[in-house]
Amino acid sequence: MTRRDELYGEGVSGNRLRGDLSSNRKVIELLQRHHQRGNAILSSTGYCVVDGHAWRVPMGVQHALHARLTFAQIASKYPWYVTWVSPTKRRRFSKNFMDLSSAILFVTKKAQYLDPAAAVVSHHGMYIPIPLMGKFPRKMGKPPRTHYWCPRCMCPRRFARSDNGDTFYAMKKEWSNDKLRYEMKDRRLALLSCTICGGTNRDSKFRSSNQPVSHVVLRSRARTRRR
Ligand SMILES: [Zn+2]
Repeated sequence: MTRRDELYGEGVSGNRLRGDLSSNRKVIELLQRHHQRGNAILSSTGYCVVDGHAWRVPMGVQHALHARLTFAQIASKYPWYVTWVSPTKRRRFSKNFMDLSSAILFVTKKAQYLDPAAAVVSHHGMYIPIPLMGKFPRKMGKPPRTHYWCPRCMCPRRFARSDNGDTFYAMKKEWSNDKLRYEMKDRRLALLSCTICGGTNRDSKFRSSNQPVSHVVLRSRARTRRR
């Protein structure tokens, strides 16, 4: 029996999956099953309840619990972390986790009491859950303010401009009244970053999670007549 952390040890920090295991199907399936078993901590109402503590698991995090891991997540020893602001030191802290379920347990038992806004973050980012596609950015809260979907902390978040006014160019999906469909336009955008995890809008997962979607109706193909 090999210990879980013996599977890692490559890369500059020693936190990458060992090269001889990276194409080993048994190891990869084992890690996938281990991640899947993490679902057990979720109640039917979406809470994590343990030893008298309860935490409402955000929908994006629930979605990540059910999703299969990507290879980047498997190849990394710590794909998740928890971030919170200490009430006494007034500083943001973070703690790495090997499993999403252990990160959720840490928030449930400890971090939520230090900071009610403590969040679970994916180092690699997760695409927006399919039922929420095309719904961001949107105005939320009181007073209503623009929220974007943050693919790293897997929640709707406020994003702030950087202090030095950084900008970048990216393709943006915009409605064209002439063509009656969405078009990709090259636009100069202000660099924004998530107020909780610091993820930016310059990220491909951010860009695809915060854009309108068009519904494509597939018409059944006319049957070809056979002679
Ligand atoms: Zn974030």
